[in-house]
Amino acid sequence: MRVPMTIADFLDRAVLGFAASPAVIDEPSQPAPPVPVSTYGRLGERVRAWQAGLDALGVGEGERVAVVSHNSARLLELLFAVPMSGRICVPVNFRLKAEEIAYVVRQSGASVLLVDPEVREPAECVRTDHRFVLGEQTENELMRFGVEPRPWSNPDEDATATINYTSGTTARPKGVQLTHRNIWVNGLTFGLHTRVWERDVYMHTLPMFHCNGWGMPFVMAGLGVKQVVLRKVEGAEILRRVDEHGVTLMCGAPAVWNAVLDAAKDWQGGVPGRGRVRIVCAGAPPPSRMIQRVEEELGWEFTQIYGLTETSPLLTFNRARPEDGELPAGERARRLSRAGLPALGVNLRVADSGEVLARSNVVLDGYWEKPEETAAALQDGWFRTGDGGSIDVGDGHLTISDRKKDVIITGGENVSSIEVEDTVFSHPAVAEVAVIGVPDEKWGETVKALVVPAEGAVVSEAEIIAYCKERMAGYKAPTSVEFRDAIPRTATGKIQKFRLRDPYWAGSDRGVG
Ligand code: AMP
Repeated sequence: MRVPMTIADFLDRAVLGFAASPAVIDEPSQPAPPVPVSTYGRLGERVRAWQAGLDALGVGEGERVAVVSHNSARLLELLFAVPMSGRICVPVNFRLKAEEIAYVVRQSGASVLLVDPEVREPAECVRTDHRFVLGEQTENELMRFGVEPRPWSNPDEDATATINYTSGTTARPKGVQLTHRNIWVNGLTFGLHTRVWERDVYMHTLPMFHCNGWGMPFVMAGLGVKQVVLRKVEGAEILRRVDEHGVTLMCGAPAVWNAVLDAAKDWQGGVPGRGRVRIVCAGAPPPSRMIQRVEEELGWEFTQIYGLTETSPLLTFNRARPEDGELPAGERARRLSRAGLPALGVNLRVADSGEVLARSNVVLDGYWEKPEETAAALQDGWFRTGDGGSIDVGDGHLTISDRKKDVIITGGENVSSIEVEDTVFSHPAVAEVAVIGVPDEKWGETVKALVVPAEGAVVSEAEIIAYCKERMAGYKAPTSVEFRDAIPRTATGKIQKFRLRDPYWAGSDRGVG
């Protein structure tokens, strides 16, 4: 028997088996009236009201509905409601400027635009057939409670469920088409590897627009897990809610865990969730020192995944093995700093160029209306990740060494900026670091570290260079260090290296990136 695997499966099971269980705890401090705490039964009703509302508006199957919102219960509901009727949800990064939002809405051809009240103004210049501000306006004018929505005429697991625009560490964002099947398989393997169950409490520390909050709204609903919405990442607030709601599971970029570690220093009493919480880190390479601190200072279990929006995202998973308990803490953390073992059903290969290639049911259908980019990314049955890496022959674990474009080539030697960052970051006076290649007469390119010093710490350029030289091959050590107040990141925690590099390469005819 072949039954289409669609997003509806996750909500249907939740409504059937967990109708009276708590489903979503909305963000209490937000400009729209928060959605009252719902059960999965109530969540099902609200999702049907969105579907019926879009029916009444005349939005057809296959049409795109764009949502620009911070994390909220309404965004979570729409991630179900829009694809469950055969429409396509386009969750958009709320930090984008008006012109960028307009680009995404135009490129995706969305006929409906739903925005958080904070995004009302930037969205005003965006042209669409229908526009609503999430909150009272959607509740009063769009949603149709008690009306049975029109069923999807031909449920198809290969239909596009969402289009997720990539965070654009290089050029204009591209729309990643994820199918119902992509999302289903990601959900299944994610839940399996992170061993999600009914007694978990999940907190959305990831932006839900980013790869649909990595698919967690679906997995957690399907397994009857209570979901806590967090609108703004703040270390102390995360700790407070871990305590208040008994959170057991969270996902996020290294920057999120750094914020929690900072807050834990000033936390009165024991850190909440010690021995209970497990975290899933991804999005950027986690420094080993951070991993060690998470385990020692928070007592939370550290796991890592690697993937891309294009892969729904789960490609690899890393968790400490029972036998790793015997290892010294530093070595344990080093092993956990690797991206991990391919997830079930994922094949990985490293091309001669050093690029990681992936083959799996989680790989995107294509880039929306970009056939050339799609063909370039999907070659001979493999997806090109654009990341450089290596696979450990001993245990099959993948290590990401760099974005292909971020490799520094100095005097003909390849230097992984990630490896240098890891070393610089292990210096106790360093709070944040980004390593880039800058032009150099002699070497073509040379290694430069941009460093944010830890609060109250005093450290010199010479000290950091000497520290690195003691720990790594001389050619890898930075030849210069510049101190900064902050290192700009994207909403998804990524350092945009091309932005950091640009000023140094201006006027040079050998520009990179
Ligand atoms: P995005 O599509 O915005 O989620 O970004 C995907 C990119 O994030 C990948 O191509 C990697 O460069 C980076 N990334 C994700 N997870 C990891 C990880 N665990 N380690 C290193 N880089 C990662």
